[in-house]
Amino acid sequence: MTLFELVKQNICVPDAAEHYGLQVNRNGMCSCPFHEDRHPSMKLNERYFYCFGCGATGDVIDLVARLFDLSSYEAAQKLAQDFGIDPDKPPAAAVLPKPERPLLTAYRQEEVRCLRVLCDYLHLLESWKVQYAPKTLEDVLDDRFVEACQMLDYVEYLADLLIAAELEQRVKIVEMLNKDGLIAGLEERLDRLKKEDDAHEKQSAA
Ligand SMILES: [Zn+2]
Repeated sequence: MTLFELVKQNICVPDAAEHYGLQVNRNGMCSCPFHEDRHPSMKLNERYFYCFGCGATGDVIDLVARLFDLSSYEAAQKLAQDFGIDPDKPPAAAVLPKPERPLLTAYRQEEVRCLRVLCDYLHLLESWKVQYAPKTLEDVLDDRFVEACQMLDYVEYLADLLIAAELEQRVKIVEMLNKDGLIAGLEERLDRLKKEDDAHEKQSAA
């Protein structure tokens, strides 16, 4: 077993975060150390973290590498040292690692993806609501403004649930978002809009 595997199997993200001084609340949220964060917007799960503010994400080794500006290998070494894991004499738990249930792993990846897409969409809607707001009463309402007004609350509600709800409810939401390719469709659309936006920026810069 490599040092990386050993560390990841034995130290969960919330434990490491608390060990290095981050304050993790009941919902597994903490203030993000990687951007100016007034409200806790970083979600910590057992195996990964994800920041809704700046998009920082990764596993326990990535977290420590970024916190202390270390390479991945140095971060793994630091974790092993600080948590008393001896790579030559792995603790009993590591000798017979519980295999991560593949279904759960797949679900976690899906949850992170849903969060990322919802969060991107939320940011887009927030900017549309301002950017395309009617300037006068006679203005014809821009479709993007209308969409923002209709969707903002709901998307925010879903993202909140995915952050804070119990696993059972989160599973239901992820299921719902994957039904009929909803999240994939949204992801594609956001990608396309971003490309159009970039192209537009290039054009106006030229
Ligand atoms: Zn952040």
